[in-house]
Amino acid sequence: MGFALPLSPAKTLTATTVITQFPENPKTLILEQCKTIKDLNQIHAHLIKTRLLHNPLIAENLLESAAIILPESMDYALSIFRNLNEPRSPAYDIMIRGFTLKQSPHEAILLFKQMCENSVAPDEFTFPCILKACSRLRALKEGEQIHAQITKCGFGSHGFVENTLIHMYANCGEVEVARHVFDGMSERGVRAWNSMFSGYTKSGYWGEVVKLFHEMLELDVRFDEVTLVSVLTACGRLADLELGEWISKYIEENGLKGNPTLVTSLVDMFAKCGRVDAARSLFDQMTRRDVVAWSAMISGYSQTYQCREALDLFHDMQKANVEPNEITMVSVLASCSVLGALETGRWVHSYIKKKRLKLTVNLGTALVDFYAKCGSIDRSVEVFKRMPLKNVLTWTVLIQGLANNGQGRRALEFFYLMLEQNIEPNDVTFIAVLCACSHAGLVDEGRSLFVNMSRDFGIEPRIEHYGCMVDILGRAGLLEEAYQFIKNMPIKPNAVVWRTLLASCKVHKNVEIGEESLKQVVNLEPTHSGDYILLSAIYASVGRLEDALKVRTRMKEKGIRKTPGCSVIECDGVIHEFFAEDNVHPELEDIYDATENMMKRIKSAGYVPNIEEARLEAEQDDKEASISHHSEKLAIAFGLIRTTPGTTIRISKNLRVCTDCHNATKMISKVYNREIVVRDRNRFHHFKNGSCSCNDYW
Ligand code: ZN
Ligand code: ZN
Repeated sequence: MGFALPLSPAKTLTATTVITQFPENPKTLILEQCKTIKDLNQIHAHLIKTRLLHNPLIAENLLESAAIILPESMDYALSIFRNLNEPRSPAYDIMIRGFTLKQSPHEAILLFKQMCENSVAPDEFTFPCILKACSRLRALKEGEQIHAQITKCGFGSHGFVENTLIHMYANCGEVEVARHVFDGMSERGVRAWNSMFSGYTKSGYWGEVVKLFHEMLELDVRFDEVTLVSVLTACGRLADLELGEWISKYIEENGLKGNPTLVTSLVDMFAKCGRVDAARSLFDQMTRRDVVAWSAMISGYSQTYQCREALDLFHDMQKANVEPNEITMVSVLASCSVLGALETGRWVHSYIKKKRLKLTVNLGTALVDFYAKCGSIDRSVEVFKRMPLKNVLTWTVLIQGLANNGQGRRALEFFYLMLEQNIEPNDVTFIAVLCACSHAGLVDEGRSLFVNMSRDFGIEPRIEHYGCMVDILGRAGLLEEAYQFIKNMPIKPNAVVWRTLLASCKVHKNVEIGEESLKQVVNLEPTHSGDYILLSAIYASVGRLEDALKVRTRMKEKGIRKTPGCSVIECDGVIHEFFAEDNVHPELEDIYDATENMMKRIKSAGYVPNIEEARLEAEQDDKEASISHHSEKLAIAFGLIRTTPGTTIRISKNLRVCTDCHNATKMISKVYNREIVVRDRNRFHHFKNGSCSCNDYW
């Protein structure tokens, strides 16, 4: 055909050229060369002039061009449609498809109703379109009516129609009905199987996905890449490594490793099954990685607590200019929480704000948790208040965060607010609530909440809840009651419960119950060095230095090594790790000098080193740390020289803070006028102006 659309707007006005060269069958022209509304306008005008628009086929071509091919011309399409004399079913089909494609499924359904009212018989193309519209809207009732109509019209066994029926039911949450349609199919091609897989996947029926795949293998039905992606997703969720590896081998043997979607699914599967190294090696071999691949890898690291690897990879992802998605950000925030990496996490938060991303429940909860775990509890509350949607986990994370940051009463206020808003607390919420009572020293409230939990909310206390009660009683100095409470527990106490009592004995200097607690702990977990250290500290605190040393010797004889203390501080987005008597940090000398200066300054301000602990450690062999070189002191000294005066210093520590470091840090906060936030293995210490938020109980 010699016709070409005029290129410049001036030429479009020379209508005569166009008319004389108008092809006899304009289908190709309308469907392929019409690129803008202007083109459409022109062609439309000619079709009216030449009366070609009376030809329904040509009219439908024009309609298709407006409704489907061109973007944003649905109104135009509708005006063409409205002017048609008795439109046929293909015209309706085009309009329904157009509405569905252009996110107006509601209009699609209305038009379908009109079609039925006008007694235009739907054809086999009508049903898949209208079912897609129902699927989008999750309009189950309409979907069911259409299903009935399909059966009546005799299209019930058209494979294409059946596939969309499966999709529709699955999307509306009726997976069993979808399965019923699937089972009733006389011929099931791979598309039908894939529809069923995607239905199960949408509802999270991972077990069914695997079962269906085995069925497929037994029946010897050919599967394709779409199938494998579904099944790999399921393997990851179920940690079904066996099937996952079988598929991995299949992919390798059939030369499918060039398919990035498949390889990404493999990375995701291996990462979710905990085989992070296998995932990483596949990931490294990929030539093109999209956000899904990066996220799969980062969340793999995050879920196996390889948090530094997660953050390193996230920084690589930023360098590669790949924009993070929700999964990436949730994983990164989780890793930042573990490491106390406030700066990196803040970057994620400002990214969310800058891009105006929706604060979904998952993302918001991850942020609340992150700020709480980094000791920025006010920020955490702020994010919480801004979240448009919250679930029980969001509330629980906030309550636990407040409790860990020493704001027990405020935590309980949120708990009662949660009840007012009719959000049902779960067992984890009650752990957080009891923990809050413990931090706030609310013994009676704790006792009654413990009772209410099972009586009013039907939650049977687990070992963790009993542990919280022991902590509440122990913290309040009710050691005998705590001991009896453990003795009367209906379930067998574990090491954590006894260890909680042991720690209380340290604070209240109770030797007798302390000795009994250690005996019980050692029976259950013989190799935990922290327990021996606690009892030895109890002896030291009452002046029984010899007994203290005996406990340490006993520990050594049993071959139990003291877990090395490690403190972490983040400066300019870089994580610095310090160990007691650190000799690996590159700026070693500066740090030691800074530590000496810092100790001198606080000594002259009145700090007295804890003599018992110092002597205890001095009697240990030389390799062990002297108390002025405990890892947190090194990290704080580093923070003092490397951060702007007046800013908050944030440290994370792997062990409990020792009494001496606690005293020293209180003094440092006063002398240097700095807020210092230390997260130890159990809780937060917010040091400010010479005192700590834990009120010297930890
Ligand atoms: Zn210390
Ligand atoms: Zn403290």
